[in-house]
Amino acid sequence: MGDTTPHLADPAAAALQEGSIEAILKVLRQGERFLVCSHSRPDGDAVGSTLAMGMLLEQMGKRADLVAADRIPAVYRGLPQADSIRTALRVHGPYDAAILLECDSLDRTRLRGLEPFFVINIDHHATGQPWGNLNWIDREAASAGEMVYRLALAAGATITPEMATCLYTTVLTDTGGFCYGSTRASTFALARDLVEAGADPLRIAQEVYFSTATSKLLLLGAALSNLTREGRLAWLWVTHQDMMRTCAAEEDCEGIVNYAVSIAGVEAAAFLRELPESRIRLSLRSKGRVNVAAIAERLGGGGHENAAGCTLDGPLPRAMEEILAHLRPSVSGPG
Ligand code: 5GP
Ligand code: MN
Repeated sequence: MGDTTPHLADPAAAALQEGSIEAILKVLRQGERFLVCSHSRPDGDAVGSTLAMGMLLEQMGKRADLVAADRIPAVYRGLPQADSIRTALRVHGPYDAAILLECDSLDRTRLRGLEPFFVINIDHHATGQPWGNLNWIDREAASAGEMVYRLALAAGATITPEMATCLYTTVLTDTGGFCYGSTRASTFALARDLVEAGADPLRIAQEVYFSTATSKLLLLGAALSNLTREGRLAWLWVTHQDMMRTCAAEEDCEGIVNYAVSIAGVEAAAFLRELPESRIRLSLRSKGRVNVAAIAERLGGGGHENAAGCTLDGPLPRAMEEILAHLRPSVSGPG
């Protein structure tokens, strides 16, 4: 097998990873028909890794159904074969296995009907747990897409330009443009491999970062007008009314929290969005040592050390106090 764990110096950890890859490939080789899905409100990694997984299965001569509970955000709709992801709230088999990409439970897909299937759980979140029938968790991977890439290499598949485009998008978006802590030397090696395989970094960056909907900037304006700073913390929010007034879609919320964490001296930030049913969606970000995944997990969510999320009960001021009560102790003490 090729070097599929370049980021792991520890041979025992690398062997465990290789074992998971082999076990998954065995199931893929034996089966005929697979379901591939990721989490609801898909981001670049969810979409890109789902598409690349579908392409890998197709190359292996398998049938793959790609399903998402929510529609694909406009910036990712130009990805190769993006149309092959069907939007549905229920799935129907039979499937030899359901491949769940970066989901911490069946619920995280928001898809119904998954219960009967053999689940292959592939996750790179810090909060990832072996809850599936077959589990491959690599908390060091920059994206779920990186794991699909390693699976494809181990399968001896050809990384087509279409696959490389999807995979590069997962790495670019999940590392925040090579800015987050998950970015290591092997991430650049991976990006290089993908560009050599046909991903166009300029075009992908244009699609992801320079194709913003007007509604998103209007919503950002509403959020920034609520920006509040308290020492090493900053937070901002939008109400359901703000969403309506700016004609914003859910996907327009992606990245707003980054403006708050970008402030000099701020170590942790939260973005709160009021959902129509008055629950509150939270996006958390941090710089350095503050572990927002641990906070999100305590509140029923999850994610990575520097980027996590959860959903809280409303109303908005209550959710704000709740998250601040968790964030304040995390940034106190000597800096
Ligand atoms: P975002 O703030 O961009 O929605 O999410 C940041 C990170 O946290 C992503 O990796 C996302 O998958 C994860 N995340 C967000 N919300 C949840 C949640 O409710 N549960 C879990 N397990 N992870 C979440
Ligand atoms: Mn991811």
